[in-house]
Amino acid sequence: MPEQYAEESLGHIMLSEAEYPDKHFRTRTGAPRVAQHDNRGFFSSLLGRAGLGGGLFRTAELPSRSFRSMGTMAAVTLGGDYAGRIEEVTEEIRAIFDRLESEMSAYRPSSVISELSRMAGVAPVRVPEDTYRVLSLGQHFGNLTAGAFNIGASPLAALWGFNGAAVPMTLPSDQSVGELLELSDYSRLVFNDGAAFLPAKGMAVDVGGIAKGYAVDRAYDYCLSAGIRDFLIDFSGNVRAAGRPSRKQGWQIGVRDPFDGSSILGKITLPSRSAVSTSGSYERFVDILGERYSHIIDPRTGYPVTGTASVTVLCPDAVTADALSTAFFVTGLNGAAELLEKVSSVDLLLVPDGYPTHLWLTPGFDKVLSTPTEVRRSLLSCQ
Ligand code: AMP
Ligand code: MG
Repeated sequence: MPEQYAEESLGHIMLSEAEYPDKHFRTRTGAPRVAQHDNRGFFSSLLGRAGLGGGLFRTAELPSRSFRSMGTMAAVTLGGDYAGRIEEVTEEIRAIFDRLESEMSAYRPSSVISELSRMAGVAPVRVPEDTYRVLSLGQHFGNLTAGAFNIGASPLAALWGFNGAAVPMTLPSDQSVGELLELSDYSRLVFNDGAAFLPAKGMAVDVGGIAKGYAVDRAYDYCLSAGIRDFLIDFSGNVRAAGRPSRKQGWQIGVRDPFDGSSILGKITLPSRSAVSTSGSYERFVDILGERYSHIIDPRTGYPVTGTASVTVLCPDAVTADALSTAFFVTGLNGAAELLEKVSSVDLLLVPDGYPTHLWLTPGFDKVLSTPTEVRRSLLSCQ
């Protein structure tokens, strides 16, 4: 039976300079793309020591807590000066994430988003403020990315076996893809007086490509309002940080190697008050007739995206990083320069699917990413 797979790990790996020397990078020279790597055991033991099964390694000395929300893992880490407040802050952030999940999950029949899809072609649905803002932002990023980011692509995602739908035993026909392309149009979502409406039966929305980033921004606002100045929030690869973990160093995170979940491609030293989001083909995929299909749909063709392994976006806020990492995943390397010209304060790291691993990055990303010397990196010529 084909199955849907979901990796439930944190997308980034937080690093401690002291405990995380360069030898943890994987050397890929000469290694086939799908090979298992001998540093897996060592890395896993580090994860084990941190008490997490996911992708996050936290420093022993910093107060940090992780929890599940939106079907994945989240983690909150505070600077040492705030150690006494870690439980209170984590509980507050968990409550924010859970509340947003109950409004926006496409997997919960009781959510407003599910109701909106159920009532497509029937009647408008009253939406609470956060859902309204996420839907509006979804439309904004749809327009900005010429439809590469499309919160209306849910019918297509379901055709390919995502969003809780059964995974097809054979490839969907061109005809069925074509029919759903018309229904998968975010721009037809209408708002009126606090209500939203999908005008045709069969339309559906999925805010899975933006909701976690939005949630991280809400958690960030809460932390600042609660007087916390040094913190890092990681919600399944959507990170936003403020301040610094200690007087000696800034926040550092590892970008996961899309070809080997137990390794990192490199280390990002986060500029102050910045957000990072990674979209990866490894996160969630289906297997149809022995081929893997990624969870991100190219709304222009109706097919799951091929050719991109991972995209990391660095910019000032988490919701932009989240939406644009999904969008750049769709545009791939070929369409990246065109989209980069339309956005400001956005830096990009894009890893095409292929061997040997080749990192493409904007000059701003180049400044903050360190990789082992043998890693091939090229500048994206734009901005
Ligand atoms: P992310 O991990 O942030 O890149 O988001 C991926 C999720 O966004 C998928 O699991 C779907 O729920 C949704 N999604 C898939 N394709 C698209 C797309 N082209 N535009 C917007 N959201 C999408
Ligand atoms: Mg996203």
